[in-house]
Amino acid sequence: MNNLIRIICLTFLTCLATGGTAMAAPGKALGTVLITGANRGIGLELASQYKSRGFQVIGTARKPEQATELQALGVRVEALDVTDSNSVKALASRLDGIALDILINNAGIAGYSAGSFQEFDFDQVMPSFEVNSLGPMRVTQALYKNLASGSGKKVVQISSIMGSVELNRGGSYGYRASKSALNILNKSLAIELGPDGFVCVVLHPGWVRTRMGGESAQLTTQESVTGMVSVIEQLKPASNGRFYDYQGKELPW
Ligand code: NDP
Repeated sequence: MNNLIRIICLTFLTCLATGGTAMAAPGKALGTVLITGANRGIGLELASQYKSRGFQVIGTARKPEQATELQALGVRVEALDVTDSNSVKALASRLDGIALDILINNAGIAGYSAGSFQEFDFDQVMPSFEVNSLGPMRVTQALYKNLASGSGKKVVQISSIMGSVELNRGGSYGYRASKSALNILNKSLAIELGPDGFVCVVLHPGWVRTRMGGESAQLTTQESVTGMVSVIEQLKPASNGRFYDYQGKELPW
């Protein structure tokens, strides 16, 4: 009886320490997660938190040899440029036969963001679409077999509230449009893959202190990622195709 009480107390304390998210038993991975753009910012913190929770982590970087902080986590580091089809295909072939439970399409750029209609430069805005909208689809398509053979079947797009049409306050034409495109691509993906047990969601990480978010941003990467890891853990079939912030609040399209 005493042992039972001790186990219940320990489980409760572990839950408190981890914000209610699961931890692996020693030596047993909770699953495998692949995170794009994991060499810095939000991606690096995602890799760190999943690693400490006991997941097998694959973090990608455009220049793996320079991804020293990611390497220091002791995770598997893979080269990936999400705009380059050859790079994406090469990653898929290196991962052939490896089941993935969670794919987090995190890589993104602020890009050339045209503050006004008159400034809009059509050529300069294209990279935002290549990285932010098409990149996640390219990676998801290439890793589909890995995800289909995993038990998690979670595809997470790190988008932004700036991609919400309803909450648009103007400006940043390029970035907003690229994230809106990502949002609708994810919705189509969710409709197509949902019947096979996939849960494909869009997450807004909050305004986070990274190279992209800047120093005056509200949240640390730890705060944002702790929230997102918990949201991802609690995803269920009914979450498929939805848009949440890092605290699990549903956002309008
Ligand atoms: P950072 O600029 O700190 O990091 C961006 C990451 O994306 C880097 O690892 C970068 O790699 C990688 N990346 C950029 N282009 C490519 C590419 N072509 N192929 C592969 N990787 C690439 O940004 P954050 O960590 O702040 O942003 C992460 C995600 O969160 C983005 O999708 C962003 O839009 C989103 N977001 C961020 C917010 C914030 O406040 N910070 C708010 C809302 C959304 P490299 O080092 O090689 O450039």
